[in-house]
Amino acid sequence: LAAAASKSTLSQAARENDSPLPKMPPFDYSPPPYTGPSADEILTKRRQFLNPAIFHFFKKPYLFDDKGRRYLDAFGGIATVGCGHSHPEVVEAVVNQMKRLQHSTILYLNPAIADFAEALASKFPGDLKVVFFTNSGTEANELALMMARLYSGCHDVISIRNGYHGNAAGTMGATAQGSYKFNVVQTGVHHALNPDQYRGIFGSDGLKYAKDVEDIVTYGTSGRVGAFIAEAVQGVGGIMELAPGYLPAVYNTIRNAGGLCIADEVQSGFARTGSHFWGFEAHGVVPDIVTMAKGIGNGMPLGAVITTPEIAKVLTYRSYFNTFGGNPVCTAAGHAVLKVIEKEQLQQNALTVGSYLKDRLLSLKDKYEIIGDVRGRGMMLGIELVTDQQLKTPAKDETLYVMEQMKDMGVLIGKGGFFGNVFRITPPLCFTKEDAGLFPGGCDGLFVVESVELG
Ligand code: PLP
Repeated sequence: LAAAASKSTLSQAARENDSPLPKMPPFDYSPPPYTGPSADEILTKRRQFLNPAIFHFFKKPYLFDDKGRRYLDAFGGIATVGCGHSHPEVVEAVVNQMKRLQHSTILYLNPAIADFAEALASKFPGDLKVVFFTNSGTEANELALMMARLYSGCHDVISIRNGYHGNAAGTMGATAQGSYKFNVVQTGVHHALNPDQYRGIFGSDGLKYAKDVEDIVTYGTSGRVGAFIAEAVQGVGGIMELAPGYLPAVYNTIRNAGGLCIADEVQSGFARTGSHFWGFEAHGVVPDIVTMAKGIGNGMPLGAVITTPEIAKVLTYRSYFNTFGGNPVCTAAGHAVLKVIEKEQLQQNALTVGSYLKDRLLSLKDKYEIIGDVRGRGMMLGIELVTDQQLKTPAKDETLYVMEQMKDMGVLIGKGGFFGNVFRITPPLCFTKEDAGLFPGGCDGLFVVESVELG
């Protein structure tokens, strides 16, 4: 009966299809009247942070708007401008290189690329010696994942929930925050429990979280794994240091399953954490592949992957190339950055001033109920806001509100975390104690807005 009914519906539909098509009205090509802001209005708004009047001087952690108002940049262009805005030595390196050779191709090596690759490799332990250059962190992670998959002959990748690794297909797969995922094919990635010391179910017990990775290998794969990728301190995820003991145990599991361990140092690298040059060093591990970007070029579009000669061989007989990756102007900037970090002892400064700032922020925690957690190290600090200390209810709206207030007071900070309720404080590494004291009202003013009933 059902078949007959559907047959008759079908033939009815077919009959309707046979009838002549209704005549379409003529298409109107005239655009609707424009009601948005004028081009001038848009440009004026966009110009706000271009440092328009103030050229040719080292702006350190400061930005200026078109009215000449000064802002303390405690976000550092998203943990990128490590040496400070317009550092004279980085500027000079870029200008000189631009005059000498703006672009060739990585096929014909030139000193700007080769010297920097050599200097960069000297910052790594073990056999990490072969450098590939890219234009961004996303590209670096895409390349790292591809190399690991080729080398291990296995597609399965494990990453950590709440991690961020980029926004192209492969890296979007490894990223484990729903808001950054789009509906495109991202197969073969398993997301492990986040060893989150504030919200995680096992607190700071890294080994218990590591067991989850073991379980994923056992239950979710054939027993073989291509790669594991993780940030040592999750940046976009809300400045979360992986629980101690986690990484060494996971590296062991992954290597036993034939996989490679990738350290995503895009945000935590280049001395940002203060205690070490690379975030992974705090965990006592040596990765098989490390990816970098952000701080590498002080804001120039540059990324890199470093690995061992053995693993690098997987690209020998394949045509991997990247037109702009390793552009000499960007690598010249990168080389200058390495020299500035050393010369100005920025790692030490990140440690000293970062600890000072963290102590001050911690003292606020006792005072304001809205502060659930203060964490991070060096110049990579986070403050998580909650409306209920016990339930850890994310104070999302309040976070945005305070952030806007801070901007009005002349301090720029970022926000992140899965719920968008964590302040990210990642200033240039040249931040001084005086700068730290400039947080409105000397840090305390950070929560001056408590008077508007935030906690
Ligand atoms: N990996 C980490 C840890 C990041 O924080 C980011 C960017 O925020 C990326 C990768 C992607 O880098 P990019 O934005 O340069 O593509």
